[in-house]
Amino acid sequence: MDLYDFKKSYEMFEAAQAVIPGGINFPRTPRFLTYGEHPVFIQRAEGPRLWDVDGNEFIDYMCAFGAVLLGYNHPRVEEARSRQAALANSTTMPSNLWLELAQFLVREIPVADWVVYGKNGSDATTFAAMAARAHTGKPGIAMAHHAYHGLHNWCIESDAGIPPEYKTHVHRFNYNDVEDLEELIKNKRDQLAAVFLTPVGHWAMRDQEAPAPGFFEAVRKLCDSNGLLFIMDDIRCGFRYQYEGTHAYYGEAEPDLICFGKCITNGHPLSVCLGKKHVMESAQKVYWSGTYFYEAAPMAAAMACMKEIKESGAIEKIRVMGSKFQQGLKDQAGAHGLKVSVTGHPSMPYMTFDTDPSLEKSRFFCGAASRRGIFLHPHHNWFVSAALSDQDLARTLEVTDACFKLVKEKYY
Ligand code: PMP
Repeated sequence: MDLYDFKKSYEMFEAAQAVIPGGINFPRTPRFLTYGEHPVFIQRAEGPRLWDVDGNEFIDYMCAFGAVLLGYNHPRVEEARSRQAALANSTTMPSNLWLELAQFLVREIPVADWVVYGKNGSDATTFAAMAARAHTGKPGIAMAHHAYHGLHNWCIESDAGIPPEYKTHVHRFNYNDVEDLEELIKNKRDQLAAVFLTPVGHWAMRDQEAPAPGFFEAVRKLCDSNGLLFIMDDIRCGFRYQYEGTHAYYGEAEPDLICFGKCITNGHPLSVCLGKKHVMESAQKVYWSGTYFYEAAPMAAAMACMKEIKESGAIEKIRVMGSKFQQGLKDQAGAHGLKVSVTGHPSMPYMTFDTDPSLEKSRFFCGAASRRGIFLHPHHNWFVSAALSDQDLARTLEVTDACFKLVKEKYY
């Protein structure tokens, strides 16, 4: 096949840098992807596919960085969203959906006795941190090394524009290491409000790490015996492993608060922080308001999306398709004599090559795949769409096989 060319995308990227700092934000900037080998601007999206501004077609394994589970432009979700948008979206007082969606979430998600709305995932995690601080009267948040909980000042690892004192309230521990967390809590107990966790260790540029058996139970116990809240940041994994929340996939321990965003709406701006009754009074004290927090159309999308996920068996479908994808990658790498590490739940796979600490081989592999119509990210875990067909997967594996061959020729 002719390899794709991204001429128009990169002309636009040049132009974007003149009017937008950096052109595109991390981690979607071409500098973070594979410069020159990935499309930069997208014109159309449907099901598991993207079309870029140069007219190239892709099977997409990033799904809007996890926001799209059912496939792009899903008819049930879009119909519900458009119907509500035609009735009312941003209005002086909230719409009826403000209550209806909250009641729906409280019925559907066992941990939820109440709901607070935001737009991006970062809104939900910020609310959770504020609620925990209001509840305990303490400022400290324990979180895993490398964990990403959003872009706001209280949790971001970068430095530019962030007064350094914010970092004094963040206390890091090693994911999956109960003793390390125990030691941290022992030393900082009088300062800590909460332990924040993502259900899975899925940090950028690293293999993914599932929670060890009993890890969440141990965190729950430590939080209970030290008066801390246990907060699950389920923004990225939520609704991909298990409908009730990813913690439930791994056992019995329940967090006090859960944050969902991304695929709760299949790609529309809404996030939620859900909580247990005993935190409700404190949650009520937190000042929380945003012009667009009241938007009704994304709420209609959320209800339609959750119903579709539940009724269509989408979670099982992405697990099965993702397992076939993971197995295919392992078999192909083995057949080419290459050592790879394929990690993560099948619905969120990721692959790295051995002896590739800077991910150069990954960048080459993902760039080669992109020029052949398969969109993968070298530094970030991938996402499987429920709209993916067996033919799409077969085409994907044809391309990855060709890309493994190229990696072998170039690096071994
Ligand atoms: N938490 C986790 C685990 C995430 O993966 C992300 C986004 N990648 C966020 C929080 C922040 O979500 P958003 O980008 O929607 O603000």
